[in-house]
Amino acid sequence: MKTLKILHMYADMLDLYGDGGNMEIMKYRCEKRGIGCQVDRYSVGSEMPDFSAYDLIYIGGGADLEQQHISADLMKCREGIVRAYEQGTFLFLICGGYQLMGKYYRDADGNDIPGLGLFDYYTVAPSSRKLRCIGNIVVRAEIGGKKVDVVGFENHGGQTKDVKTPFGKVLCGNGNCAKSSHEGYFEKNVIATYLHGPCLAKNPEVADYMISYCVNRGSDEPVKLAELDDSLEKQCRQVMLGRLLKK
Ligand code: GLN
Repeated sequence: MKTLKILHMYADMLDLYGDGGNMEIMKYRCEKRGIGCQVDRYSVGSEMPDFSAYDLIYIGGGADLEQQHISADLMKCREGIVRAYEQGTFLFLICGGYQLMGKYYRDADGNDIPGLGLFDYYTVAPSSRKLRCIGNIVVRAEIGGKKVDVVGFENHGGQTKDVKTPFGKVLCGNGNCAKSSHEGYFEKNVIATYLHGPCLAKNPEVADYMISYCVNRGSDEPVKLAELDDSLEKQCRQVMLGRLLKK
């Protein structure tokens, strides 16, 4: 089977709550199935990579300051990222990374950080820094034809608007805006979400959706991934769901 090629962008700057842990989960779940998984890194000042050579591009989240620091560099990568996305490279984006693929992120002081404009949504932070969406969240998503209650933790000031195809429905927590009905952004080859930290550890179906997409990309004979024993992960999630969804 082919080796998955992943590009993890700005791992040194956009890694709030250990978002980088998601790459450990991708490697772990590939290795368990005998699938190779190579994770390369790109950050400010690195040589410009061939984005289209990657099956998946991953960007984590960070505070406004880090978003400002990477903004000019990210713009330089625009053409390459757009081309890769159009050719089917998967984009997995967390919080700040999610925001920067939209039109712009306007911070609490009213400064605009330009986004790549890949998608139509935009994000505006309230002028008071005290107004943030923080806490546990449950999102009901449809992943590979199955309903999955994805659990995680969100922490963002930004309110993301004009999202045409959200990742899922909010069952608990805030989502794209304070108390909104939906969370994140979804396309066949895009998952963008506010769920921070190694959210794939808690939600193996999300990791497997991306692995399956990457493995089968461009193939006429799609293969089904071998099942892994996720009983512990599922048990942990049930505990959280019981806690968060109880009336
Ligand atoms: N700075 C952005 C916000 O507060 C993104 C935060 C994040 O990535 N956690 O909305």
